[in-house]
Amino acid sequence: MTGTPTATGHCLCGAVRYRVFAPLRPASVCHCSQCRRQHGALGSYTGGIPVDSLEIDGADRLAWYQSSASARRGFCRECGSKLFWQAMDRRTLDVALGSLDPPTGIVLARHIFVADKGDYYEIADELPRFAGSSAA
Ligand SMILES: [Zn+2]
Ligand SMILES: [Zn+2]
Repeated sequence: MTGTPTATGHCLCGAVRYRVFAPLRPASVCHCSQCRRQHGALGSYTGGIPVDSLEIDGADRLAWYQSSASARRGFCRECGSKLFWQAMDRRTLDVALGSLDPPTGIVLARHIFVADKGDYYEIADELPRFAGSSAA
């Protein structure tokens, strides 16, 4: 792709780098048990990025773990950084906020899967909360 990416990001070790050529949406903080286990805390993602608007360097170092029948999670096989979440039936993916290079310009929009929230923290902001997915 040509032009200036709307965002860039990379894993902790730098083996996997990506460039996004699509607008970034307001983000979700996900409290589901799968995100909490995989991230070690919360998952935070900006979603709906078309797969074909993403360029990935080091794709051979990018591993995918199918975490459920409906989704898979992309991470660096060298350093373990969490990078992507993708519904199996979609041509879009979500990018983990922590992997983005600053400034991201992203704002948090909502908390999702709060019914699965850990008992070791409280949600202390006024953003909308959804028991499960925010999808209507
Ligand atoms: Zn890495
Ligand atoms: Zn989650």
